[in-house]
Amino acid sequence: MLETTHKHLIIGAGFIGLGMAESLKTANIPYDQVDASDDIGGNWYHGVYETAHIISSRKITQFTHFPMPDEYPDFPSAKNMRDYLNSFANYFSLRQNIELNRKVIYVRPIDENLWEVTFENGEQRIYKGVIICNGHHWSKRFPQFQGEFNGEIIHSKDYKAPQQLSGKRVLVIGGGNSACDVAAEAARVGAKSVLSMRESVWFIPKTFVGVPVSDLIKWWVPEWLQRFTAYLIILLTFGSYKNYGLPKPNYRIFDKHPTLNNEVPYYIKHGRITCKPEVRRLDGEEVEFVDGSRESFDLIVCATGFHVAYPFLAPELQRVEGSTVKCYGGSFLEDYKGIYYLGWSQARGGVGSLVSAFAPIFARFLKLQDEINIPMGLVFKEMGQQLPKSHLEDPQNIFRELKLVNLFFNRIVKKAHQVDSHYSNFRNIPLSPLAKKVLSN
Ligand SMILES: Cc1cc2nc3c(=O)[nH]c(=O)nc-3n(C[C@H](O)[C@H](O)[C@H](O)COP(=O)(O)OP(=O)(O)OC[C@H]3O[C@@H](n4cnc5c(N)ncnc54)[C@H](O)[C@@H]3O)c2cc1C
Repeated sequence: MLETTHKHLIIGAGFIGLGMAESLKTANIPYDQVDASDDIGGNWYHGVYETAHIISSRKITQFTHFPMPDEYPDFPSAKNMRDYLNSFANYFSLRQNIELNRKVIYVRPIDENLWEVTFENGEQRIYKGVIICNGHHWSKRFPQFQGEFNGEIIHSKDYKAPQQLSGKRVLVIGGGNSACDVAAEAARVGAKSVLSMRESVWFIPKTFVGVPVSDLIKWWVPEWLQRFTAYLIILLTFGSYKNYGLPKPNYRIFDKHPTLNNEVPYYIKHGRITCKPEVRRLDGEEVEFVDGSRESFDLIVCATGFHVAYPFLAPELQRVEGSTVKCYGGSFLEDYKGIYYLGWSQARGGVGSLVSAFAPIFARFLKLQDEINIPMGLVFKEMGQQLPKSHLEDPQNIFRELKLVNLFFNRIVKKAHQVDSHYSNFRNIPLSPLAKKVLSN
């Protein structure tokens, strides 16, 4: 039997899981790490199409303390990203703590504020805490369609290579980054490419004057100035939406996760992508749109996003509302200690710079959690922190808050001990074990 009660378990060895592992290792916090897949890298290993390139620039996507190789382009490919994460894991000797092909199927609090983790092969281990880095780009969200379609319907998650689109009449549903990538690929290799958007989106060019736009819009300037810069760049690059036969988007830029794409406007201008409004119904090989127009297709790709999901948690620990996880400080619950939800929010910008700033602070909070009896989330609540209302995050706010936390960490420690003294009887409420039936399946 492995002795794991003094350790945390990190679920997931994708970008965020690896970043957290490095931070725990540096802080001398004992941990194990598991991943359901047969290799590390998460999405960049098994989750994205082979032609994917990041949309945030390499500069803001790399871990700040581990730059990507000089020969990488401004927008590295999925393979570049995967190689980079492998070098990161090797450089910081993270592999020795990682077990692959190790899917977690159930996590529950037990007596003594410990956590029982059940793996797919039936093995169970007891941990001091569980750090959930299972990603949020895997639980497919599909639209509800009226009618029947004779062709094939897939989710963008199931799109892996251009051959799937080759010679086909393709309808892509959605206005996000994946939708635009797939529509542009269909414009190149398909017989037809139609993009159906419920509403017009702001297309932000990936570069302006030869520089990645995500490097031009500085996170440290006020949000209104970030928006103004983005509008100006869009206007100077694409001009008016009328030029593309599209209505002007009716939301403020950044009120939705940004779409960074030059190719869709480019292919609209070449007549290789046509934009349509929302789908009204499917009818054999035809699709009817809400403007009454109809077209025939072979393939529908639903680039309609993902649910944030924790299938291995009991209902009492399901805190997802919409796409937002109701936890304090981005990760902490007020009523359970030892469970942490990471990487569920959608921050503008690149993942690495955010993880580099957040992970060392998270490690300090784990150490502080050891000093007190109550959950860190309760401390944040008593300090007046609100639960998040949205999964969208302005990186400016995140970096500013993290700076403040660093600056005033001693005060937070003091407050944590004060609040702790008021709840001396706190204990995690144990939850029931997984039904034997499920375990034997
Ligand atoms: C097409 C596309 C383009 C993107 N472009 C960008 C970009 O430009 N910039 C950017 O910053 N981000 C981008 N992203 C977001 C991307 O998801 C993040 O960069 C990053 O991969 C998130 O890392 P993660 O560790 O949270 O999740 P993941 O990479 O999804 O890793 C989660 C890991 O957890 C494992 N896991 C899940 N459940 C279990 C379980 N029950 N037991 C054990 N292991 C489990 C999975 O196998 C996986 O390896 C893009 C995403 C997509 C889909």
